[in-house]
Amino acid sequence: MKYFSTKNNQKAYNFREAVLQGLPEDRGLFVPEHLPELSKEIIHRLDDYSLAELGHQFLAPYVGDVLGSNQLADFCEQTFYFPFPTVAVTDNIYSLELFHGPSYAFKDVGAKFLSLCLNAFYEDTDKQVTVLVATSGDTGGAVAAAFQNSPKVEVIILYPNGKVSDLQERQLCLGGDNVSAYAIDGTFDDCQNLVKQAFLDQDITKKRILSSANSINVARFIPQAVYYFAPFQVLGTAEELIFSVPSGNYGNLTAGLLAQAAGLPIGKMIAASNANDVVPRFLENGSYQPKTTIPTLSNAMDVGNPSNFVRMQHFFDTDTLQKKLIGYSANDQVTLSGIRRLKESHQYLADPHGIIAYMALENYLKTKNEKGVFLETAHPCKFQSVYDQLDMNVPLPESAASLYEQAFEKKRLSANYEDFKSLLMQV
Ligand SMILES: *Cc1c(COP(=O)(O)O)cnc(C)c1O
Repeated sequence: MKYFSTKNNQKAYNFREAVLQGLPEDRGLFVPEHLPELSKEIIHRLDDYSLAELGHQFLAPYVGDVLGSNQLADFCEQTFYFPFPTVAVTDNIYSLELFHGPSYAFKDVGAKFLSLCLNAFYEDTDKQVTVLVATSGDTGGAVAAAFQNSPKVEVIILYPNGKVSDLQERQLCLGGDNVSAYAIDGTFDDCQNLVKQAFLDQDITKKRILSSANSINVARFIPQAVYYFAPFQVLGTAEELIFSVPSGNYGNLTAGLLAQAAGLPIGKMIAASNANDVVPRFLENGSYQPKTTIPTLSNAMDVGNPSNFVRMQHFFDTDTLQKKLIGYSANDQVTLSGIRRLKESHQYLADPHGIIAYMALENYLKTKNEKGVFLETAHPCKFQSVYDQLDMNVPLPESAASLYEQAFEKKRLSANYEDFKSLLMQV
């Protein structure tokens, strides 16, 4: 498989080059040359395979000969090792729970696959790579967990002080020897700006090989297509399923479009958003108008100019996108009352992101005799402060208890670039 920049169809890269570089020089995004299909035989016999085996089949054409077949199989075993249950919530609505991994969010999948790739690509060199991550909570936790045993990678995480939950902060700070997290005196945007500035600073790039771990990287976003197979293993492939995806940067939804292109009978997909509703607006009127970010309770979806939109537009024209996708958005008030209503009516506790996808699906299916799946992208326990507003208490999963038994040292840093730079200039 060749990869190209969305801005240049002349210069080809292989999977390894696209992963290591992250972003093309021209500031487009890397995209695969085409979207490969799986054989009908596999699609019709999904339950004969484990999710790791399906991942191997699906990803093989995307990685090409950059990874050997055995190595890819091994990476898939290490990535898709936890359960991805499809839970019936109503007669025709299912939750695809993506939060049973180490950091309790779907980002565990992409972060793990990326970490395995980076480590393998640097294995035979004497080089070390520094992964810089700005996080509003979930990305950093997934990266901290995924890179724990990556000797070739040092991870530096920046998060806004006081703006991530207690559980998220513990996940960030208890990452392991090669992972350090810093609480920045500022907002998430400040964290992101520090990281961006470092990437452009030659004093730093002469000293360190920098890499990012967000869904711009093809090794993070493409493997996310694999869990779309899981509901079909349970519900069969005779009928199409509608998928509703709580969206921020649209890596997750774009991965679903890849799964659909591979031959899964995915019907419409719903772009479920909070007040940051650029994509639902685009689907309504065909014009894409990025906005400044609005802070909400579902803060992992607070994105005013989603990076993966460029990829969606690369593969499909506006007309096709308007046919494939349905837009939906909910404000904080609707989000809160939705959580309570679903808990009371169907005893299902959704997280502040998944609930928006649930409500979008409920709304769409009202007049239809079809089945749908919403993606539950994180465990509710990561957002206790949201449930405080509802007087609800979320029990911690047993596996989270150890996070509370360990002491951690909180490292603080100003939002001043020179402070961050001097940290990166130390060996
Ligand atoms: C990151 C995240 C999202 C948004 O995913 P995108 O791929 O950026 O659209 C949704 N929900 C949760 C819980 C997240 O952590």
